[in-house]
Amino acid sequence: MGGPDAVRVRGGDGDVTARVSKWPGIELGPKDLEGGVTAVRYRPEAKFAWSAGEAMSRFLAELQEARLIARECKGCTRILFPPRMFCEECYRPTDAWVYLRDTGTIETYSVSYLDTDARRITEPILVGVVSIDGASPKMGMMHYFGEMSKDEIRIGMRVKAKWRAPRDRVGSVLDIVYFRPLREGEG
Ligand SMILES: [Zn+2]
Repeated sequence: MGGPDAVRVRGGDGDVTARVSKWPGIELGPKDLEGGVTAVRYRPEAKFAWSAGEAMSRFLAELQEARLIARECKGCTRILFPPRMFCEECYRPTDAWVYLRDTGTIETYSVSYLDTDARRITEPILVGVVSIDGASPKMGMMHYFGEMSKDEIRIGMRVKAKWRAPRDRVGSVLDIVYFRPLREGEG
């Protein structure tokens, strides 16, 4: 511990090693460790809880109920989605919770021949951003698209969330399986 050799082995500061010939403290050898030094083995059973914050926690809880929620700012009259407790334009707290429908418009998309592990795939996955109905322009979420082919998908396409079954929902954006084309007479 602390000897010049140890510093060199660790790739330490060569200049300091050259300047300091006598290191403070007492170097311990294997003999010292036999009863001379108290050692304790301890395996902590640490339990963790992680908060997503007020807005995102509510957003995730509502997803589990198959609902999309946003925050309204009365200052700029924007509907912020995903919800935020603070308006970055007005520089003030947002005012109220607002439920949105689970329909929207494809803002942008990608046809990906790589899966989420970056492996090549032959049947592409479709991903992109959906602007959610009722939210202010350009407020949306990134997600998968389904029940459409790479030749059918287009910017401006009207879509609706396909939700997991209630027992399979966990409070995650993946409680939505994907966004599918809006059908005649829907939403
Ligand atoms: Zn605002």
